[in-house]
Amino acid sequence: MTKPEILVSGSYPDWDMDGFRKDFTCHMLEEGAPLSTLSDALRARIAGMAFKSHAMDPEMMDALPALKIIANYGVGYDAIDVAAADARGIAVTNTPDVLSDEVADLAVGMLIAQARRIVEAEAWVTEGLWAKQGAFPLQARVWGRKAGIVGLGRIGREIANRLAAFKMEISYSSRSAKETPGWRHYTDVAAMAGEVDFLIVALAGGPETQGIVDRAAIEALGPEGMIVNISRGSTIDEGAMIEALQSGKLGSAALDVFENEPNLDPRFLKLKNVLLQPHQASATVATRVAMGALPRATLMAWFNGQPLPTPGNGPGRAFPETA
Ligand code: NAP
Repeated sequence: MTKPEILVSGSYPDWDMDGFRKDFTCHMLEEGAPLSTLSDALRARIAGMAFKSHAMDPEMMDALPALKIIANYGVGYDAIDVAAADARGIAVTNTPDVLSDEVADLAVGMLIAQARRIVEAEAWVTEGLWAKQGAFPLQARVWGRKAGIVGLGRIGREIANRLAAFKMEISYSSRSAKETPGWRHYTDVAAMAGEVDFLIVALAGGPETQGIVDRAAIEALGPEGMIVNISRGSTIDEGAMIEALQSGKLGSAALDVFENEPNLDPRFLKLKNVLLQPHQASATVATRVAMGALPRATLMAWFNGQPLPTPGNGPGRAFPETA
């Protein structure tokens, strides 16, 4: 039987490529490479795309006139112009759920590491300061304090569940109130930030959530407050956050995502009150294996005319078209 042809954008580990090649004839498109590197005849045949890159714009969609489905590796749709895909009848899927616990683990790990200064405390040992200067300075408590989750989606809820187990008082901000075990709901992020110790950002990325954590929210959190961001760099006013960290209007931050990653604003590297991570919240072998399996299953389902394993083009949108 002839295998369906797909375009595979970005780079994948061998286990994913082996899986793709087992089921599909794969045409590779390196991250950032223009579609013009592919022949017109090939572009005219491509109906399915495994997507692991930073941008899919309308021009790229037009360069693939037969395209019907983009299976995004990662949760969210911010790298893809979904409205343009909708207008062209192209389904867009992503990889929700399989990474929520992993990302929540790192968010909590970052919060504890930053509050208890675990990284600096290790340097205190390895640089000999323990022996020379004595005990490491006392730190802020983590358990029992107040956490505000910005965006109580799948990941936000897993973070809240974990922090509740640390006996924290949980608040969350979202457009509508959710069913919770008594967690406090806010619609205004700054209002919530003024009431909590830790502000953990778990929003979807994209233009609609750009800068939701604004200067007012950052300053409301205050000199003892901490921001943890595992969502996207775009969700926080990064310039305002850096200024607040520099001036002491914000106590500290633990960040996995940045506006211009991997080329961070150089001011971050001079700050002593930040914990910086290389966008690695979902990066365990087990979760990446699960994430890689979803686009393959999605493309296979689509080519076989079966329902997609995850809804296309955003929540609640079961995209009807199949091959
Ligand atoms: P989700 O379940 O769809 O939750 C998204 C959250 O964003 C919801 O709380 C939603 O709030 C909020 N939101 C969406 N659009 C909004 C808007 N226009 N205005 C205000 N709030 C809006 O997604 P998830 O699975 O939890 O993932 C969340 C995000 O985490 C992903 O989109 C991705 O950017 C990021 N992420 C990062 C990593 C990493 O490695 N650091 C890994 C995976 C995911 P409502 O409740 O008001 O709808």
